[in-house]
Amino acid sequence: MHDPNCIFCKIIQGTIPSKKLYEDDDVLGVFDINPASPVHFLLLPKRHIPTLQHVKEGDSSLLGKMLVLIPQLAEQQGCGDGFKTVINTGPNGGQEVYHLHIHVLGGPRPWKRATI
Ligand code: AMP
Ligand code: ZN
Repeated sequence: MHDPNCIFCKIIQGTIPSKKLYEDDDVLGVFDINPASPVHFLLLPKRHIPTLQHVKEGDSSLLGKMLVLIPQLAEQQGCGDGFKTVINTGPNGGQEVYHLHIHVLGGPRPWKRATI
């Protein structure tokens, strides 16, 4: 369920502090510690899944739930005018934290960084 060396698992377990915007039994939403845009949060499954390449058929409902949540959370964060979603996957995908997460970026442009 949790990887003791994973920073996001530590956030989920509460051993590392975070600024949470959403939580249920399966999913956690936290603001990115180094935001690339005025609104930048991450949605992560509570179960440790390293990358999008590790998802299985049985994860369909979890992933679907995350996608359905995103526009609701984005709206709550003032991103009714739109937002960007990003999933970095593996070394060539630029992934830094190996616990699956969906970036949600929004707010008035220009943004601090064009890419994440
Ligand atoms: P990625 O390159 O997709 O793996 O992105 C990892 C993201 O996690 C980066 O945008 C980091 O700023 C963010 N991050 C790293 N540590 C933390 C933390 N403790 N709390 C919130 N966000 C974090
Ligand atoms: Zn993890």
